[in-house]
Amino acid sequence: MDNNAKFILKSGKDQSVKRYHPWIFSGAIKKSFGNLIEGEVVDVYDNKDNFLARGHYQIGSISIRVLSFEPTEIDYSFYKLKLQIAWNLRQRLLENMPETNVYRLIHGEGDNLPGLIIDIYNDTAVVQMHSVGMFLVREDIAKALQEISNGSIQHIYCKSAATLPKKALEDEQKDMFLLGDKESGIVQEYGVKYEINWIQGQKTGFFVDQRENRKLVGQYSKNRKVANVFGYTGGFSLFAMQNGAEIVHTVDSSAKAIDLTDQNVVLNFGENHSHKGIVADAFDFFANAEDTYDLIILDPPAFAKHHNVLSNALQGYKRINQRAFENIEPDGILFTFSCSQAVSPQNFRKSVFAAAANAGRKVRILHQLTQPSDHPVSIYHPEGEYLKGLVLHVE
Ligand code: SAH
Repeated sequence: MDNNAKFILKSGKDQSVKRYHPWIFSGAIKKSFGNLIEGEVVDVYDNKDNFLARGHYQIGSISIRVLSFEPTEIDYSFYKLKLQIAWNLRQRLLENMPETNVYRLIHGEGDNLPGLIIDIYNDTAVVQMHSVGMFLVREDIAKALQEISNGSIQHIYCKSAATLPKKALEDEQKDMFLLGDKESGIVQEYGVKYEINWIQGQKTGFFVDQRENRKLVGQYSKNRKVANVFGYTGGFSLFAMQNGAEIVHTVDSSAKAIDLTDQNVVLNFGENHSHKGIVADAFDFFANAEDTYDLIILDPPAFAKHHNVLSNALQGYKRINQRAFENIEPDGILFTFSCSQAVSPQNFRKSVFAAAANAGRKVRILHQLTQPSDHPVSIYHPEGEYLKGLVLHVE
């Protein structure tokens, strides 16, 4: 234990660690001792030599991702215990999610494992590492997953090439099976079926975080003309169809995503259906739309990945929401989302407010949405809350 490299924080820079915030920024560090190896476990002390925390060291603006605020041994049983706690919580959550076998098992800081995301697709776990430290212990994670699931997880795919820092472990392969070899499969969410390809799909293969919001769209869909814009593989569309929408159009700039949407429609509803997939840029779609809609879903990708592009992102939200307000029929319902962590709920709401005013529509908020309970937010790490949604009634 004593072999860990040691960091001393600057005076006053220990406050956030003492309040259990799991990130230690490079600017907070006064000095370090020992052999610094990226991804290794290091210890953090205040400048009076009191132990504060232990975590993974990484080169970059977040220097340390805290794993424990006590001098706990960070070994196989540490990871297994954290996974077990997360597994037990998900088993409880699943009791209220009938016919659902796709969910998030580990949501980074929200499950006290910064740098690690694990999504479960029935018998397959897709493991995504955002830190070098987590990547280095991938075999431990894979072994623990098999043990805690009692063998129900039979395939484990590590998908970290796109999420690890580019310069880290340059020569290593970062996408690989850690167990089994299944590349795709059919999963279900409240009885709606999806074919997911975790190797080729975006993120871990699916946007698991919209499950409850997709279900809510279903409740508003009866007899509606629905446009699901930024639709990916048709998640919201399938719920709208299942709940009696009159027509459903799914729009995405990715032809591959629309192909998958078409396949998912057939998987659930056969060849006879009221769905059309449209490959288009969302702005062009609204500019050229011949139809008007009375239920529109806007779920764009993160417009702001960093705080310094925030104002552009807010403009983007304003413009796309304005297009939707201009198109939507009276008595329409708009589901509008932002998944940019850098955009606060207040800023998002202001952009949507400006869009409504520019379009000259009367708008009321019916629901304020966020991410579901399998994406928990540590109360000490508010940055973990990233998904914001508004359900609006447009007169
Ligand atoms: N609502 C989806 C997830 C959407 S992710 C679900 O429930 O699964 C965002 C999607 O926006 C991606 O599929 C991406 O291909 C698409 N996209 C990105 N930029 C776009 C643009 N300018 N116009 C249309 N689609 C775009």
